[in-house]
Amino acid sequence: MYIVMLASECAPVAKAGGLGDVVFGLGRELEIRGNSVEIILPKYDCMRYDHIWGLQVCFENLSVPWFDHHIPCTVWFGFVHGRKCFFIEPHSSDNFFNRGAFYGFPDEHMRFAFFSRAALEYMLQSGKRPDIIHTHDWQTALVPVMLYEIYQRHGMGNCRVCHTLHNVKHQGIAGDNVLAATGLGRPEWFHDRERMGDDFDSTAINFTKGAIVYSNFVTTVSPRHAWEVRHTEWGYGLGHALHVYQQKFGGIINGLDYDMWNPATDPAIPAHYSADSMTAKQENSLALRQRLFLRQENKPIVAYVGRLDMQKGVDLIRHALYRSLHLGAQFVLLGSGSEPGINAEFWRIKHELNDNPDCHLEIGYDEELAHLIYAGTDILVVPSLFEPCGLTQMIALRYGAVPVVRAVGGLYDTIFDRDHSERPPEQRNGYVFQQSDHLAIESALDRAIDLWFEHPEDFAELAAQGMRCDYSWNQPGADYLNIYELIRHK
Ligand code: ADP
Repeated sequence: MYIVMLASECAPVAKAGGLGDVVFGLGRELEIRGNSVEIILPKYDCMRYDHIWGLQVCFENLSVPWFDHHIPCTVWFGFVHGRKCFFIEPHSSDNFFNRGAFYGFPDEHMRFAFFSRAALEYMLQSGKRPDIIHTHDWQTALVPVMLYEIYQRHGMGNCRVCHTLHNVKHQGIAGDNVLAATGLGRPEWFHDRERMGDDFDSTAINFTKGAIVYSNFVTTVSPRHAWEVRHTEWGYGLGHALHVYQQKFGGIINGLDYDMWNPATDPAIPAHYSADSMTAKQENSLALRQRLFLRQENKPIVAYVGRLDMQKGVDLIRHALYRSLHLGAQFVLLGSGSEPGINAEFWRIKHELNDNPDCHLEIGYDEELAHLIYAGTDILVVPSLFEPCGLTQMIALRYGAVPVVRAVGGLYDTIFDRDHSERPPEQRNGYVFQQSDHLAIESALDRAIDLWFEHPEDFAELAAQGMRCDYSWNQPGADYLNIYELIRHK
């Protein structure tokens, strides 16, 4: 099958979170299974160009309709760790992708509406006719709409679209100028709530709503989250649309790229290990303490790695930090946020605990340090308020760290409590709590730290059991191919 992925991220060249990991990892798995996969991305100035091989211009003078004129673009091709990637570079005073960051600008809708139109235009003009176009999140949610409303008439009628919702909190809610810019036009047609009309703001169109209506299949990134978005407030208003289209909606758990995340080969960690020989993990703990100026003492290390965002349960992250120190553990945090208030709070804690030899907060984004933390830490906390899938708990398992998670979304689907689970004992791999208050996280975190101190062999066995879980792309890859096959023949 010929599959083209359209996305705003692909690890490791352009990654702000789990979306980038999924685009790369799923792309790789689909290729291993004999499919032809291409990935189209914006050409950001701030990409990790050191991870692109053989970057060269592959299509000059791509002319993309935009309002009542055209924007000329250059399309580049390069390999990103084996994946075939195309990068679209527009030449206009809008400067859409030369801003020093992937996200966070006032004209965000215009930037990604343009990218979506340009990607389709590139496929049209270069003769690409994939069987499946796989789009991801609101940034590329206009693609199924434009494919059906514009490009189908131009010979792309056989392409089918699968759209994946990674985070429905961000839906792409915009005004009519997007319709004018992309050539979709006809505001009265698209404002209809059966198409792209937002259910809450009658003056706005909703990109994600459009993707739900126009795609041939819609997925989200775990079965539990598929249920949550339809039945709870975590649908952020899309529950009704997903209910209407439930026949073409489902949840597939994300896989983890087991090559990129492999403690037996990881170049970013000093000592390699596997489930059968975990003693070398301690060397990574030593290296982690040294790197982050923690004292070298025989204590468990508890860590948090991830965005500092309300979604991630910032209050519970902060509580886990103080609670871990109180129980005699060490705590390491690697995180960065886009909300100034939350960042400021963690900078305040960092200063407050500056002289504490058992604690280190690293506020920023650091891929290599993340690898060392997963390899060196004993326990990883993921206390999210909601979590569509979550990758950090799966990375923790892969690196022999015991996850302590809240039972939501993909965390619910992947982590099974050591003491209280319906799963057989050999499938249990962490600690789980239900509510989002301090007592709840203590009920899980305390048990994890206690097991480390009181029953170290049992703790090591639990960690090794986690390492033996298979959360690779193997099963999710097969599931996505089944969906592609299903929609291809419709
Ligand atoms: P989300 O997509 O909501 O950000 P996920 O758990 O799905 O969360 O994916 C997070 C990914 O981003 C993981 O690979 C994690 O290691 C990485 N990550 C998040 N924050 C940082 C950071 N500050 N530094 C390095 N890696 C990070």
